Amino acid sequence: MKLLRHLSLLAAGLATSTVALAQAYPAKPITLIVPFTAGGPTDTVGRSLAQAMSKHLGQQIVVENVGGAGGTVGVTRTKNAAPDGYTILLHHIGMSTAPTLYRKLQFDPLKDFEYIGLIVDTPMTIVARSDFAPKNIGEFVAYVKANKDKLNYANAGVGAASHLCGLLFMSAIETPLTTVPFKGTADVINALLGKQVDFTCDQTTNTTGQIQANRADPTKGVKVYAVTSLRRLSVLPDVPTLDESGLKGFEVGVWHGIYAPKGTPKAAVDKLVAALQAGAKDPDFVKRMADLGATVYPPERITPAAHAAHLKAEIDKWAPIIKKAGVYAD
Ligand code: ASP
Repeated sequence: MKLLRHLSLLAAGLATSTVALAQAYPAKPITLIVPFTAGGPTDTVGRSLAQAMSKHLGQQIVVENVGGAGGTVGVTRTKNAAPDGYTILLHHIGMSTAPTLYRKLQFDPLKDFEYIGLIVDTPMTIVARSDFAPKNIGEFVAYVKANKDKLNYANAGVGAASHLCGLLFMSAIETPLTTVPFKGTADVINALLGKQVDFTCDQTTNTTGQIQANRADPTKGVKVYAVTSLRRLSVLPDVPTLDESGLKGFEVGVWHGIYAPKGTPKAAVDKLVAALQAGAKDPDFVKRMADLGATVYPPERITPAAHAAHLKAEIDKWAPIIKKAGVYAD
């Protein structure tokens, strides 16, 4: 009897605190996990978005960089965080390739998360160290094929967008290369600037500034050869697409979404969805993304349902491509 009374009191207490939590949310800063190193493309999107969403929520969103294993370390951290609305995740296309690439994955993208919505799509660029000899993408492909044993391709680890793009590029030019993994492409760019690696495929949100620096002074920044979108970009109008350069149909767009651990209260999810939708319309965020070649999704895609459907479709799209390439990690 005593125990029963104790249990019911406990239950009542829990119910009240859940209601209080939902009403007050967010009552303290929210952590946004970026599963790559600081200063890279995901970090750039994350910090800009955090500011825009913070304005709407009236609470700070603080970015925490948890890099490693192509983003999977940060995703696992999010999965294991308390589902209370105070830990969320920004991740990209890697969420859909990891289940096929990794034989032992610590999370299931389709079961372990609440989906908040899609946010931006970012094209990629083929870039090399500033002293790389080829003058254009035609020469580049010929040079890479002729020197495949001497060159290396840097990426942000298995599951990163730079890994996926490299995989597709090597397969398209039928030339396997040595790959060098880092914890994010901020580190890849540093290695290119230091001439420790030869080339990569990285998002415009990370390369645009370095491409401009190279144009101002050819000994600086990174040399750009092509973009991975099917159409040329307004921010880099003179850079050819891979599709028009002989690699017909080559296209990689890096979609991004916001996640929360499974079981996050609906009231918190709803507030996060509203903040994400408001953030997507924030003029500073929209301008920053446009300046960096990224496109913000239209409102109808910034919903949990559209996000979940896109994730599922992308897992199904990439699985056969990755299996055919025969790439995997433990
Ligand atoms: N998005 C990663 C980063 O922020 C890089 C990648 O996915 O290739 O470093």
